[in-house]
Amino acid sequence: MDCIFCRIVEGSLPSRKVYEDEEFLVFHDIHPFAAVHVLIIPKRHVESLQSIKESDEAMLGRLMALAPRIAASLGLESGFRTLINSGVGGGQEVFHLHAHVFGGEGSVRIPT
Ligand code: 5GP
Ligand code: ZN
Repeated sequence: MDCIFCRIVEGSLPSRKVYEDEEFLVFHDIHPFAAVHVLIIPKRHVESLQSIKESDEAMLGRLMALAPRIAASLGLESGFRTLINSGVGGGQEVFHLHAHVFGGEGSVRIPT
């Protein structure tokens, strides 16, 4: 399997890391849509929210709960936006589950 986000987790593809723990990695999007634009991913390869399993529910809760902590650590006191594109029809381009977190200049103008 050739997944660019798995390669980022492995370290064979570089990224600008923001946060890392045993389960998740957070790094800056390579083409930011806003002043702050980071991606939260599970280290384990999960394809999409579209194909999520019941056994992934707790992980998803932890992933979403990480968003406000990451936003606060990046200075987004006034708020932030999250986005999960799911499936081809949902605009997903990288098929390794990720939540976008946007903040600062430009974040409220992002077309969804
Ligand atoms: P999607 O449309 O799948 O929700 O978003 C994929 C995101 O991954 C895009 O915003 C794109 O800019 C970002 N992206 C794609 N390839 C790379 C990469 O190699 N490194 C980083 N940091 N971001 C990437
Ligand atoms: Zn992957």
